[in-house]
Amino acid sequence: MKGSLIVVSAPSGAGKTTLCNAIVKDFDRIAFSVSYTTRRPREGEIEGVDYYFVDEKRFREMIQREEFAEWAMVHGNLYGTAKKTLNDLMERNIDVLLDIDVQGAKQIKALYPEAVLVFIMPPSFEELKERLFRRGAENLDLRLKRAFEEMREYSFYDYVIINDSLEKAISDLKSIIISERLRSKRFDPEFIDRFYPIV
Ligand code: ADP
Ligand code: 5GP
Repeated sequence: MKGSLIVVSAPSGAGKTTLCNAIVKDFDRIAFSVSYTTRRPREGEIEGVDYYFVDEKRFREMIQREEFAEWAMVHGNLYGTAKKTLNDLMERNIDVLLDIDVQGAKQIKALYPEAVLVFIMPPSFEELKERLFRRGAENLDLRLKRAFEEMREYSFYDYVIINDSLEKAISDLKSIIISERLRSKRFDPEFIDRFYPIV
């Protein structure tokens, strides 16, 4: 049985990291896809845990060798998901959470049509501004403008979650993952064989 791909996108500050961390903490058989990026590590970020930090030359070589399932330029840096990262986890029946932007989500859906796409919305513009401000985000105005553009792409996604009450939003995301795990195509056919009457 293979694991599923769960793509989660959101405008910066909507609460995607908070939600995804809650899922990985509470569920078994689920892991983050660790992306490659040319951006510099932020304080506290760990190589191989937060990202694989590479230079542009290495990133471009990986593009040439078609090693990426998707890649995109986001805020002036290159980000990409390696096919190997996804396939290694899925082969081990582990569901994969991909925290990627809208451009990447579209490429994943084209390559893996069975991927589940979830968009996280903030409850309001004022609340988004407040959360970004509290988090001390850099380039506040730019992030807010980009948030508006990204939110217009919601209809491309299979599900939309409004992250107002955190508890409710976590429960919504869990429901999506549970439903995905209960799909008949993920059911083990050997279960039926065990019912074969022994005569
Ligand atoms: P993102 O990963 O989408 O940029 P974060 O998960 O870092 O967003 O959340 C941005 C800020 O908003 C953080 O300070 C986080 O604690 C806070 N936050 C997240 N969800 C909620 C919520 N439902 N209600 C209030 N604050 C929230
Ligand atoms: P940050 O630099 O703040 O970690 O991430 C910036 C943006 O890049 C976020 O919107 C995040 O979802 C997106 N991102 C991170 N990894 C990838 C990736 O592998 N592919 C794509 N397309 N976007 C990514």
